[in-house]
Amino acid sequence: MTSSISVRIATLRSALPDSVRLIAVTKQVSTDAMRCAYAAGIRDFGESRIQEAATKQAELQDLSDLQWHFIGHLQTNKAKKAIEQFQWIHSVDNLKLAQRLNQLALELGVSPLVCLQVKILADPSKSGWSVPELFADLPALDECKNLQIQGLMTIPPLGLNDSEILDVFHHTRDLKKEIQEKNWSHLQIRHLSMGMSGDYQLAVQAGATMIRLGTILFGNRTT
Ligand SMILES: *Cc1c(COP(=O)(O)O)cnc(C)c1O
Repeated sequence: MTSSISVRIATLRSALPDSVRLIAVTKQVSTDAMRCAYAAGIRDFGESRIQEAATKQAELQDLSDLQWHFIGHLQTNKAKKAIEQFQWIHSVDNLKLAQRLNQLALELGVSPLVCLQVKILADPSKSGWSVPELFADLPALDECKNLQIQGLMTIPPLGLNDSEILDVFHHTRDLKKEIQEKNWSHLQIRHLSMGMSGDYQLAVQAGATMIRLGTILFGNRTT
């Protein structure tokens, strides 16, 4: 089991461009399996629950060069824990949350790395900005100077075929370019966090710089 994790990671890594950061999504994955991933070279772990991550972070304290990525829906009342525990938050999905994180970052004296979650297609099952909403909020986001807003994150709706998924990723790439071309005082959107086990190859093809893989590395989760 654990040896298959390292084989999968090595195989995947060798097929990826060096520019792509592989984030191992470890929700419901044991710390034993995470140590195995670490031994295979993984330094970036993605978690979607604050409490589950806290338990694992305590167990993995001896691995001092890890980067923790929060990828789940973040409630405002967990915002403080999120920036205390994670270097990256991929799932900032509304202006109020961004402003709250910005205030907390100031108080805590940190500058967390952040992606803005966008929905290229309407998707009631997910949170995130629509494209017009995002453009409306960009000036206020540019004021969040305690955050390092560095990327866009997207998850395509379920049920799309490959060409539709690729379309979503291309739109996200174009959106990043369009944002970058404007003259912001602070925003620096250089990353694209997109691609999961089922669609990472399409995401990489469209220019993803961070892919978030769980199942393909660790097998199926129980729920
Ligand atoms: C669970 C999860 C992933 C990983 O999904 P897999 O299909 O298991 O690779 C990636 N991103 C987010 C936001 C997730 O919640």
